[in-house]
Amino acid sequence: MSWVTLEVKTTRRAQLVDITERVAAAVERSGKSDGACHVFVPHTTAGVTVNEGADPDVARDIESRLAELVPKEAAFQHAEGNSDSHIKTVLVGPSCVAPVHGGKLALGRWQAIFLCEWDGPRTRSVEVAVSAL
Ligand code: ZN
Repeated sequence: MSWVTLEVKTTRRAQLVDITERVAAAVERSGKSDGACHVFVPHTTAGVTVNEGADPDVARDIESRLAELVPKEAAFQHAEGNSDSHIKTVLVGPSCVAPVHGGKLALGRWQAIFLCEWDGPRTRSVEVAVSAL
C-alpha cells in the first residue's frame, strides 16, 4: 500500500475542485501496476466525487443545484451555521475508488475526481492510497 496526503486549497464556500491530475500523479509515483486507488476526505463538510471534468459547467451546475436542494438558511438544530455543508457532504460521500491499470489511473473518458468543498474557503486534506491486486 502506498499512501500520500494531498493539501487542497479552496477559494469559495461551495466549490468542486478537480484533483484528478494530482491523484493520477500519486498513482504513478506509487509504482503499483494494477490495483485500486482509494481517495478519502477526512472532513465532515467536504467530500469527494467522480463526475464529468471535460465541461466545467457540470461542476458549476452541481454546486448550484445542491445549493437549491439544501438551502443554507433553514430550521437546523446544529448551531454552527453549516448544517447545509454537512448534508451536502452526506450526499456526495467521503470517498471514492478508481481502478489502476498499467500504472495509471483508469478513469472513464469524461470522468474526473473532485474534492467537493461545502464550507470553504479553507485548506483540505485528501488521502490517496494505492493498493496492488
Ligand atoms: Zn458544523
